[in-house]
Amino acid sequence: MQTGNIGVTTENIFPVIKKFLYSDHEIFLREIVSNACDATQKLKTLAGKGDFQGELGDLSVRISFDKEASTITVSDRGIGMTAEEIDKYINQIAFSGANDFLDKYKDDANAIIGHFGLGFYSSFMVSKKVEIITKSYTDAPAQKWTCDGSPAFTLEECDKADRGTDIVMYIDDDCKEEFVDKNKLADLLKKYCKFLPIPIVFGKKTEWKDGKQVDTEEDNVINNTEPIWNKKPADLKDEDYQKFYRELYPVSDEPLFWIHLNVDYPFNLTGILYFPKIKNPLDLQRNKIQLFCNQVFVTDNVEGIVPEFLMLLHGVIDSPDIPLNVSRSFLQSDQNVKKISNYITKKVSDRLQQIFKNDRPDFEKKWDDIKIFIHYGMLSQDDFYDKAMNFFLLKDVDGKYYTQEEYQTLIKDNQTNKEGQLVYLYAQDPQRQYTYIQAAKDKGYNVLLMDGQLDTPLIAMLERKLEKTTFSRVDGDVLERLIEKEDTKREELQYERASKLSSIFNSQMPRTDKLDFHVEAKALGQDALPVMLTQSEYLRRMKDMSRIQAGMSFYGDMPDMYTLVLNTDSPLIQSVLEDSEQKTEEALRPIEAEIKGLTARQAVMRQEQDKKKADEVTEDERKELNKCGDDIRAQEKKKTDILAEYGKGSDKVNQLIDLALLQNGLLQGEALSRFVRRSVDFIK
Ligand code: ADP
Repeated sequence: MQTGNIGVTTENIFPVIKKFLYSDHEIFLREIVSNACDATQKLKTLAGKGDFQGELGDLSVRISFDKEASTITVSDRGIGMTAEEIDKYINQIAFSGANDFLDKYKDDANAIIGHFGLGFYSSFMVSKKVEIITKSYTDAPAQKWTCDGSPAFTLEECDKADRGTDIVMYIDDDCKEEFVDKNKLADLLKKYCKFLPIPIVFGKKTEWKDGKQVDTEEDNVINNTEPIWNKKPADLKDEDYQKFYRELYPVSDEPLFWIHLNVDYPFNLTGILYFPKIKNPLDLQRNKIQLFCNQVFVTDNVEGIVPEFLMLLHGVIDSPDIPLNVSRSFLQSDQNVKKISNYITKKVSDRLQQIFKNDRPDFEKKWDDIKIFIHYGMLSQDDFYDKAMNFFLLKDVDGKYYTQEEYQTLIKDNQTNKEGQLVYLYAQDPQRQYTYIQAAKDKGYNVLLMDGQLDTPLIAMLERKLEKTTFSRVDGDVLERLIEKEDTKREELQYERASKLSSIFNSQMPRTDKLDFHVEAKALGQDALPVMLTQSEYLRRMKDMSRIQAGMSFYGDMPDMYTLVLNTDSPLIQSVLEDSEQKTEEALRPIEAEIKGLTARQAVMRQEQDKKKADEVTEDERKELNKCGDDIRAQEKKKTDILAEYGKGSDKVNQLIDLALLQNGLLQGEALSRFVRRSVDFIK
């Protein structure tokens, strides 16, 4: 029997393993089982080359546990090890600069295991003692290696009938419950070993018999040894991809489509990415892309490897070339990883373009579901934006789809304003904005539907990227100003009359913290509605942005600002105008005369004071000018009050305001009930 110390330069490797690797304890199973698979595959390779002539037999890797003895055993029928090999591969672990490295990556078990090639030793994270009982495929005698968590080990010959290796782990007392348990082990195997290339057997298949689950004779193989990402796309049918998707995410809806990744130069990578149908935003977080290294599950945290916008996709990526065992910060700066990320982006855009070209109707059908990925990609990655312009679609309120180029051609003639800007009109809520959409259509304009979660930032980006292009929501202003043209000259109401009319309506607008109104009189033609409410594009967009972007809550807290536009060409508004002028004329006349006098005096005084130097103006002169201003304001107030009084008494004014509010969903509660009562009176 041989005894000795494991060749590490650190005092004792085991406390280190236990202390630092606490967070990822469970990966010991992945390490031991994948070693067993490696040993099995090596034997298959030897057999393939004729270097091993014996019987291969059943090559499954078997996992078993013993609750009483508190052991977990992983057995394979692979190449096994001779005494020399144990010494070389197990006893001598290269271990330099260990402490520095451990300090740096103390929370990242993967990094540590990768750095030191500690796969096997990770078993000590959970075991107080580990035995290797192994018999090489050569005729060397079987060996038993034992180590109890100190650097001392023993190695002795033993009896073992069959070729291969058993790793027997005596699980620590404080890890017993976590790991020596059928369900827990089954879960772990499913998580890490689901696609290993060698059959992994865990117990027997069970069946219902006499009211309970009983073991059958059949081995319970927990993995799929030939996952489809390793196969040639030409050999696969849609059903195969769909079936595999269900294998990955059993409770998800059918995917929309998929992309089979397959590169061997300048790096190795295979995989399948699925565009999921997302009904519930939670699905995005739950069903993540899984990263494999030669079919061994590594992580579902693919940040840094997959471009951010594609992290919303589902599926698998398998690459032996991704430095899986190093820390995340390293990943992000790794050139290979960058290449992989670029490759995936390119592949995804190529595939989207291909579907668009080959089957546009199908692509359009899926557009609403996939647009969030594409928008996100365009927003977050310039090179994707450029590629996406080939298949990016705009949808109008009638459900027709256009590429950016097609749309430009469609609206160029009719929707270019006098400054040569192309104006894209859009709606976000076709129900609420119905009247505005109709008005735009009546003018022969097209209206886009922009109701997606990312449409607000997307619009801002398109305006930046496309030349001479602006987007305006249909209710952003009266149409004539949304798309201003040379020929839209109408006769506007004289200033003084218009301002009185506005004042009357203004006095009757609701006032709350959340709403702010401004009233404006404008000649919009006889066909247009008498009143309409518009909402300034700029402020509304800022508010929309504030909902999705941090640091903009200032805008979010501002009230919604609307403009009530009175159409002075409408007979109804004209009748209000005439009636109000008639009824208020007498009361307003003396006030207006007064204001006129005061204003004239104010002007004269100002002129005189302006001629003097600042210190030549006397205190009295200054006071007199101020008083004149106050007097004007007092008279103006009287005027406003008289107009408000008229407004209050006018059912027509209130009815018109309520109609405009109603059309925008802003009439509620008491105001709504008043409106209904007033309407009933009108009908009577
Ligand atoms: P790695 O697998 O990264 O090389 P490990 O510490 O996991 O590092 O294993 C060290 C070596 O021990 C392996 O390279 C292999 O030669 C040998 N080994 C481990 N497990 C087995 C096994 N089940 N059968 C045969 N050899 C094994």
